[in-house]
Amino acid sequence: MNAFEALGLNEHLVQAVADLGFEKPSEIQEKAIPVLLSGTTDFIGLAQTGTGKTAAFGLPLLQLIDPTQRHAQALVVCPTRELCLQITNDLEKFKKHSKNIFTEAVYGGASITMQIRNLKKGVQIVVATPGRLIDLIERKAIDLQKVKYVVLDEADEMLNMGFRDDIDFVLKNTINRESIWLFSATMPPEVRAISRNYMETPKEVTVGKKNSGNVNIDHQYFVVPQQHRYEALKRLIDFNPGMYGIIFTRTKIDAQEISERLAKSGYEIEALHGDLTQQQRDKVMGRFRTKSLQLLIATDVAARGIDVDGVTHVINFELPDDMEVYTHRSGRTGRAGKTGICLSICHSRETFKIKSLERMINAQFHKVDVPSGKDVCRKQFFHFMDTLMQADVSSGDYETYMPDLMEKFASVSKEEVLQRVASLEFNHFLKYYENAEDLNRSDIRGDRRQPSTGGDARDGSRKERTDFNRRDNGYTRLFINLGTKDGFYKASFLQFILDESNLKKEVLGKIDMRDMNSWIEIDKAEAGRMITAIDGKRYNNRTIRMNEADGGFKRPNDEGSGGGRERKRTYAPKERRSFR
Ligand code: AMP
Repeated sequence: MNAFEALGLNEHLVQAVADLGFEKPSEIQEKAIPVLLSGTTDFIGLAQTGTGKTAAFGLPLLQLIDPTQRHAQALVVCPTRELCLQITNDLEKFKKHSKNIFTEAVYGGASITMQIRNLKKGVQIVVATPGRLIDLIERKAIDLQKVKYVVLDEADEMLNMGFRDDIDFVLKNTINRESIWLFSATMPPEVRAISRNYMETPKEVTVGKKNSGNVNIDHQYFVVPQQHRYEALKRLIDFNPGMYGIIFTRTKIDAQEISERLAKSGYEIEALHGDLTQQQRDKVMGRFRTKSLQLLIATDVAARGIDVDGVTHVINFELPDDMEVYTHRSGRTGRAGKTGICLSICHSRETFKIKSLERMINAQFHKVDVPSGKDVCRKQFFHFMDTLMQADVSSGDYETYMPDLMEKFASVSKEEVLQRVASLEFNHFLKYYENAEDLNRSDIRGDRRQPSTGGDARDGSRKERTDFNRRDNGYTRLFINLGTKDGFYKASFLQFILDESNLKKEVLGKIDMRDMNSWIEIDKAEAGRMITAIDGKRYNNRTIRMNEADGGFKRPNDEGSGGGRERKRTYAPKERRSFR
């Protein structure tokens, strides 16, 4: 008997997972599916993304739904639009052979009219983000009276994002439900409270150790002087030619600047941050998912819920302040049993954090030197040669050209052809790294603004380099769509944001209040925490929007066209053009 069949799944679902190439159930699937199929047991699954938890609740949901009834029978609530779409997408694949089951994703930032219209057609499974779901309930566009199963996915993340009241509201409005299935990576007291208040003797299952770093991940760190962070990042990318990676920065400004700078140097990279519209965000994610982008650079806030398979590397441009954030970031690689690498660029003053990280995630970190220019060239060279050797020549009509080609190259040796091919691909690399300095040098004092000697030929101006370093201290400005029209005075506003974010007054600078909006100066290191706590929360029936304000952000100097640019490079072997 097939292992999925043995869990009690019907033939349509078994066929669908076989089509997806799932050979055996993951741990969470093995433990959850038989329990959830009963339909009446409340369930808590402590599992991170990447463990196969979507199928763990998705497959039983699809089996329990009555296809003859065209009303909402199951509700999946999740923190972000991104995750909402992913879950719906997965459900679509799982229900490929099951007839008459309809799902709908409802999330903010898209037309509510369209979503209402689709819901009216009679869907049985609704996947929703909390804000939009409440809107729909308030507009009476969704009837939860007949919902039997409520799934709370990434419950800790939803509470982190301030959706506690919304979750309460949803649970109070699904009074005829038969069970709640709660999935969470961690179990903070607020998640426990949901279980205490709404669930009856839930069956609890933990997959892997709580807070543990993914065991498939190799954690490496590189100690470099502050002013070499960017150059070190570039070397790490160049040293790993097959990299399909996500780079994390602490601020939106860094994400934007680094992305622009690398893109100008020919890398396939885009930034994901809070200033993008949903449409732009979807476009970036779409390109990354289909691998037309090699690299994505993101802030923690913007990267919430990103769930992409096959990410080979996560790079921390700086170590995060919050140690739990490290686990979240590194968990974007090494998923579904694959191995992954998490590279962290640190300053010597940050190395103490490594020790606590090792303790916290119970894994060893390896200190590795930033590769030298020569190492990078060698690696690129052999990677290219390997790709050359693996090129598929079986399908083209090369025979036609071969006689002419052989004649043309009759007097040229094999060595010479190879050299010429290599020089086409590598001259820019060799030149760039010719005098590259040792970035591991410890004799450079941390704050000295010393431009590096090698590498400037093609990579950005010195002014730009120091821009990254200068913003080492000080405040970031946050925008919030609340102001005096919302009934706030400065003191009550201050109290409100401090209470909501659980931060101390000392982290704040100037507060500038207007009728409808306000701007808050906040210690750069705490900005993310405040945004996480407040953005998306509701106030007086309005969703609060908080993000980093544009103030202070300058586009890096145009690096000029021609001359200094690297050639555009593709990276995935299958996409790599054959040599011209
Ligand atoms: P999730 O934790 O639901 O985000 O799943 C992570 C990834 O693992 C998804 O791309 C799934 O398609 C994949 N996956 C889920 N279950 C299995 C399985 N039993 N075997 C192989 N891959 C799986």
